[in-house]
Order: sequence, then structure tokens, then C-alpha cells
Amino acid sequence: MAQLSDDCFAHGGALMTVPEALEMLRSRTEALVATEACRLPDALGRVLAEDIIAPASVPPHPNSAVDGYAVSYGDLSEDSETRLKIGGRLPAGDRPAEHYEAGTALRIFTGAILPPGFDTVFMQEDCSLEQDDTIVVLPKGLKKGSNARAAGEDILKGETLLKKGHRLRGVDLGFLSSAGYGQFRVYTPLKIALFSTGNELHDPVTRTDDASLPEGAIFDSNRYTLLGFLKSRGITVTDLGILPDDGAAMKTALADAAREHDLVMTSGGVSVGEEDHVKDAIGALGSIHAWRLAIKPGRPIAFGQIGSTPFIGMPGNPVAVVVTFLGVVWPFLCHLSHQTYIEPMGQQLKAGFKHKKKKDRREWVRASCHLNSDGTVELVKYPRDGAGVLSSVCLSDGLIELPENALGIESGDLVTFYSFRELGL
Ligand code: AMP
Ligand code: MG
Repeated sequence: MAQLSDDCFAHGGALMTVPEALEMLRSRTEALVATEACRLPDALGRVLAEDIIAPASVPPHPNSAVDGYAVSYGDLSEDSETRLKIGGRLPAGDRPAEHYEAGTALRIFTGAILPPGFDTVFMQEDCSLEQDDTIVVLPKGLKKGSNARAAGEDILKGETLLKKGHRLRGVDLGFLSSAGYGQFRVYTPLKIALFSTGNELHDPVTRTDDASLPEGAIFDSNRYTLLGFLKSRGITVTDLGILPDDGAAMKTALADAAREHDLVMTSGGVSVGEEDHVKDAIGALGSIHAWRLAIKPGRPIAFGQIGSTPFIGMPGNPVAVVVTFLGVVWPFLCHLSHQTYIEPMGQQLKAGFKHKKKKDRREWVRASCHLNSDGTVELVKYPRDGAGVLSSVCLSDGLIELPENALGIESGDLVTFYSFRELGL
């Protein structure tokens, strides 16, 4: 269902800003997913394909919030305790009687319906019983409506509970269940084929012994970062391993992957070196447009298509992968999968350091929150900030975002900080 024109990723300019890139991607592509029915127990992490409208109010009836005695407030004396005959007993789940004697109290339990006329509930701990438990003594001073839950106080019939595009969390399943939904329509998950590229890469998982790496080799990290990012966001991923820097082998593997997936994603090999074979391979199979984004870290990223299957070529540097995924690729994947992208809000915090930056590019600085002895929070920059220093992501709390027009940070400046938790790391 890819709706891509041949030149949909084409971009003639030099450096592109993140908003420009996103605008271009979103305006030139359409979603790749279909819809299907989904049962509530299977819906965790799925994306709603319909607005969910409450078919009835929750709770459906007024009911008691405590175990105790329900009364009509008008039967209480204002300035002394009140003695009322107990006129009935009502556990949760029971239907109330047609009629209760006027001026009586009702022995009631949490969750039981408050019958018409009963509007206030005393907690049993505050009451005492007399005359063989036929009379309840109620203290003075309770407000009208105490411990009574109104019908519809949680959900009103006809209200929109969750919107199309919302990815369902655990609590949403309970919420939909409370409204009586056992099944609804969701979008099919995007099916992504994932490769790393590079002759230098080794996989620690498939290593047969614990011999040290050959000279020049490193372990592949991008594939596992991306696997984690994608899977935790409800995307179906096929891990297709590491591709060597070899045009012919790449072409075959990428063409095969494109036939069976909604999208193909690689990392590495999209820069300008002659060992960057991904671009040529995709160019031969369809079309490719390598973009240089005005961001740091990040920069090279490629979009294209293999036949009609979209292709995303992530950068090779591990931190650039993290940043471009969070800033560009994830919003784009949301668009392709009909999922509502939730713009992170960030927070304004004080920087405790000085930092220089080039104008006209957006920069993300890895930083952690330091709690000062006076209770204020200050951001501390991670000491090593190369695009290959993945420890800087795992061992910091988040990213400071410096906008295109900023020239740096002075110690004490308020800056926008996005915690990795908010970014869904
Ligand atoms: P490239 O864009 O292929 O030239 O890669 C840029 C840098 O990222 C090089 O230092 C690569 O070794 C490194 N790199 C590429 N892919 C990966 C990967 N999957 N895991 C870790 N590092 C990588
Ligand atoms: Mg490479």
C-alpha cells in the first residue's frame, strides 16, 4: 500500500532543517498500514484505528464509595447525632428493592447501587448500632453527598474515550474494558526489515567463542538499538543481520527484504565515502536521496525506495542513530503507521556549563540532572560527546536541544531539556 511517487524523497538543497525534513516526508507519503479487528487482551501496544465512544456512562448508577449506612440527607438532624432504623441491606452487585421505607438507613457496601432517595453514606467505622442492631446511630456533621459516587462521574455516555491513532498502554486496556469494549479496530503494525552495514561489524550474539575481535573490527550496536526502539514502539521487525560493504550482496539482500516488508531500514554506508555502498545499491534498485540534515549529531540520512517499498538509511555513528531516530525517523514512522506522534514537551532547566555551537543547525547535547544541596536542579554535560560515544546516551539523563539560531550555552542559561524517559528510550 505504499503511496510513494518516484521522487518523493528528492531534495535539491544542501543542509535541511528537521522541520523541513519532516514536512517533506509527511506531505509526500501516505500510511502503509491496514486495519484489523483486535481483542482487548491482545491490544497492548496496538494503535487504535477508530475513535472509541462511550456506549454508556461509568459508573452506570450512583453507588456507595464505602462500607457503611446510606441515608437521605434530609432525615439527619443538623445539631445532634441521628438514630435511624435499618430498613434494608444492599451488597455490591445486588439489585435494590423496589421500595424502602421512608426515614430509614440502608446497610450498604462499597460499589452497591444507591437507590433513589439515598444520597449520603456514613462509613461504618463512624457509626454504632443499638437495639439488636436494628438502629444505627449516625454522628452529626457529615456533608450531603459524602461517600456517594455519581453515575457517570468517570465516563459520560457519548464521550470520546480514546482517539484513533492512540497507541494503547496497559491502563488504556483497563479503561476500554471499564467502558465495555472487548474488541475494536486497530492498525496492522508496520513490518520493517532491519540491517546493519559494514565490513567492520561483528555480532556478539552469533560469536562462537569469546576470542577478541580481529583488528579493525567492532561490535554492531545500531541494530540492537534500533531493534529495541522499534519493538518497544509496537513495530514488527525482522532482524536481517549485518550486510558487508559489497554492492552486489547488498542489492540482493535489500531487494529480497523489500518484497516482504513495508519498509527497509539500514544503518551506515550513507555518507560520501566510496565504501558507502548503500546509496548505490538502493539507487540501482529504485531511487535514493541522501540528505544532509542540519543537526548534530546526525547529519547523513537517506530516504528512498526499493521498487515501491520505502527505504530509510540511518547514519552509521551510534549516537547519530539515536538522535535521528528520535528526532526524524520516529515521527515519520508514526505518520506511516497512522499513529499519533506525541511531541515531547521537554522542560526548562538551568545549564551548569558553557558550550559553543555553530549557528544554523540544531544540536542535542547529552546531559544529566544534578540535584544541588539547595534543592535546585542543574544540568551537567556528559564529558565525552563524539557521535560514536554511545555510553553518553546510556549514562546521561537526556538531551538539551539547542535551536538553529543559538550560538551556545552560558552557565546559568535556561535550556530546553528532554529526558530520555520522555523520549521513550
Ligand atoms: P559509516 O557511515 O558506515 O561510514 O559509519 C560511520 C561510523 O559508524 C563508523 O565508525 C562505523 O564503524 C560506525 N558504525 C556503522 N555501523 C555501525 C553499527 N551498526 N554499530 C556500531 N557502529 C557502527
Ligand atoms: Mg560503513
